[in-house]
Amino acid sequence: MTPEFSKVYFGSIKHGNTGAFASFAAKLDKIIELLDFSTVKKKDKVAIKMHLGFNDGYQTVPVFFVRRIVKAVKKAGGFPFVTDNPTAVYNAAERGYTTETCGCPLIPIAGVKDGYTETVEFNFHSVDTLDLGGVLRDADVLIDLTHAKGHNTCSFGGAIKNIALGGYHGPSRWRKIHGVEASIPFWDPEKCTPEHAKKLVESCPDGHINYDEDEHKLTVSFGMCNQCLDCMDADKEVGCLELKPENYSLFQELMARAAHEVLKTFEEDKIFFLNFAIDITPMCDCWGIGIPPVFNDIGVLGSRDIVAVEQATLDLIAKEGLIESMIPPYFRNVNLDPEADLHPLARLHGPWKDPYLVTGFAEGLGMGSREYELVEVLSPEETLKMKAPTGVSETQPSFF
Ligand code: SF4
Repeated sequence: MTPEFSKVYFGSIKHGNTGAFASFAAKLDKIIELLDFSTVKKKDKVAIKMHLGFNDGYQTVPVFFVRRIVKAVKKAGGFPFVTDNPTAVYNAAERGYTTETCGCPLIPIAGVKDGYTETVEFNFHSVDTLDLGGVLRDADVLIDLTHAKGHNTCSFGGAIKNIALGGYHGPSRWRKIHGVEASIPFWDPEKCTPEHAKKLVESCPDGHINYDEDEHKLTVSFGMCNQCLDCMDADKEVGCLELKPENYSLFQELMARAAHEVLKTFEEDKIFFLNFAIDITPMCDCWGIGIPPVFNDIGVLGSRDIVAVEQATLDLIAKEGLIESMIPPYFRNVNLDPEADLHPLARLHGPWKDPYLVTGFAEGLGMGSREYELVEVLSPEETLKMKAPTGVSETQPSFF
């Protein structure tokens, strides 16, 4: 390893000792210590950007850890606050996140009505501008606190997605970022009759193709499509439909660019990344439901390099492999061959949704390095050698 490799600190969910010093929480504390919050200055406003879940979706970063991070920020002299989209903030108490439990205020990322924003120019395919959450602009420090999991559109939701989608107001997220895939032409209306268009609609077993006969307009839900290509097969004789890998990769390229713009609003030494690879569901936290995790819990990763932390998280997920029995039955066309040259998340969501694309785009933008040194803290091997407590006891009630 050469020193220029970005360091990624890793605390495994596996432990080697019954002592609290070897616990997962202790590993998070150690990682925070190594990330070094000394660059947080007294009274700095510290935005902890996380996903607070939605409706019945509870598989987000547990408040237990949020509280611990908040304490560390306060100890460093900062003024922390948790931020996410307004709806998630307003009903966060339903999932256990309150000012009392987190230990700091919860503030909507783009103001009370999701309109406190700053417009950023993109000029990327169909996306002219995006509106960045004004609260992020107001903050001095960013802690990108992420629940690492799958995602239907890009197969992986990590630190990049947390700020790329979550860093902007709702209309930017839903109408512009989601939708960029269609900006590379995929359907020729001249070649397609209404009858053939209806045949194409029928050809998708999952209902991801729609046709508006009045407008003579065909749309594909790229975010949900698993690239089985049954529709292309149905189009062989006519040749009016052409789905390309580029349609799918555009989303990932835009994610990298959108995250880059968020990071540019902070000084380099005031950005921290923490990825919690636990409860790794196949889809993201926006679905508002509990979804069976399809990977074993892995642990927590921390870095000051967003690309390195994403790459390391993806590598560890790949190493873990899919738990086949947990894959929901509505996933069709899953590649169950563990030897296939595809990340398990792409085996789940389709080969054109390679989760490594986003780290490649992000590295290309100069956001960080895919080369990293994984530094495990308090590994089971290390803590196994330490003296273990002889028992667990509480001699009298303790308030603290
Ligand atoms: S590739 Fe498969 S899933 Fe995607 S739109 Fe076509 S038929 Fe539907």
